[in-house]
Amino acid sequence: MKRIIAAILATLMLVACFAGCSGKKTLVMGTNAEFPPYEFVDDSGKIVGIDAEIAQAVAEKMGYELEIRDMKFDSLITAVQSGNIDFALAGMTVTDERLLSVNFSNTYATGVQVVIVKEGSDIVNLDALEGKMIGVQSGTTGDIYCTDDYGQDHVKQYDSGALAVAALVNGQVDCVIIDNEPAKNFVKANAGLKILDTEYAVEDYAAAIAKDNTELLDAFNKALAELKAEGKLDEIIKKYIPAE
Ligand code: GLN
Repeated sequence: MKRIIAAILATLMLVACFAGCSGKKTLVMGTNAEFPPYEFVDDSGKIVGIDAEIAQAVAEKMGYELEIRDMKFDSLITAVQSGNIDFALAGMTVTDERLLSVNFSNTYATGVQVVIVKEGSDIVNLDALEGKMIGVQSGTTGDIYCTDDYGQDHVKQYDSGALAVAALVNGQVDCVIIDNEPAKNFVKANAGLKILDTEYAVEDYAAAIAKDNTELLDAFNKALAELKAEGKLDEIIKKYIPAE
């Protein structure tokens, strides 16, 4: 009986391997797929976007398969640290605070924290934010800076930018502070909103990699530099952010 079970198990493992093993090793990327155009779920349920395509191109250069895992943005750093994922690519800003926990690759894009308001809002500049209720995505730089500048009582955290924007539409917050490209997407998807013509913070995006995995950091940077030199990086960005 034991032998039969062992034989069945062995066969099952073989079948699983034929289905899943292509002979290549897998690189696991963590992201929060609610941040268009960097990462979002398309109509077929696939995670696509600038980060997904850059990661795919980097993995190909390194000879790896890519697997993308969707998780909450504020779980990504811990997932990198614990080795649950090999790297996080999530429109993530390089900050001194995060550098205490992870390493960052070279940067591949610039992000700007902007303010979304309802059309006709009395919030016309950053000074007018004082005393208002600001919606943010939990754990993001928008969340961290606003909490510092305007106080915890004036910041409402949501699991995603889309939920923060829905709260703005419903009048639960007076504005949303979020990265400029997702902001443009959210404003396009919701009538009656606009982005203030003022920049709250300018930041660099990079991949977060575990401190002890310098081998991956070096390989990632090398692949990224090649993609840049080949014009592939620009091509991917232009595909998702058409020139205005
Ligand atoms: N750039 C912001 C940050 O790093 C937001 C990223 C995101 O929400 N995916 O905090």
